[in-house]
Amino acid sequence: MFHRKQKIKRSYTDRIFSQYIRDRADWTCQNPKCGKQFDKDNSKESRKLHCCHLGYGRGHIPTRWNEYNCLALCNGCHTWIDQHPYRALWIINQHFSIEQILFVKDQYRKKYKKKEFEVQERERIKVLIKELKQKEVSDG
Ligand SMILES: [Zn+2]
Repeated sequence: MFHRKQKIKRSYTDRIFSQYIRDRADWTCQNPKCGKQFDKDNSKESRKLHCCHLGYGRGHIPTRWNEYNCLALCNGCHTWIDQHPYRALWIINQHFSIEQILFVKDQYRKKYKKKEFEVQERERIKVLIKELKQKEVSDG
């Protein structure tokens, strides 16, 4: 199977974003019918959990680092979703509210200068990561 996405170069922002999406999912595949868990400290294993761009593909800048556009899916579910767009729609609906989905849709059409936007998004992701860590601490 072809993975066109893998030809797009990954930046530092892509890496921390992908890490955030998988941390947010607690290193668990977010397909409700799967739920496979991964050990984040085992790189061979953690690589099998992907940050999957469900709504709009990773090549599209305005939604590339949007946390409502992505979920953590295992490699098996990622392939399955790529082949069944309506299943992707179903999974999106299991995880996001209509407001969040519409927000992503609205972002899609925005025009950004890639470099400036990436810097802006990187800072935003860092805040999300911090908030997630605080939540983990308070949840015990
Ligand atoms: Zn899965």
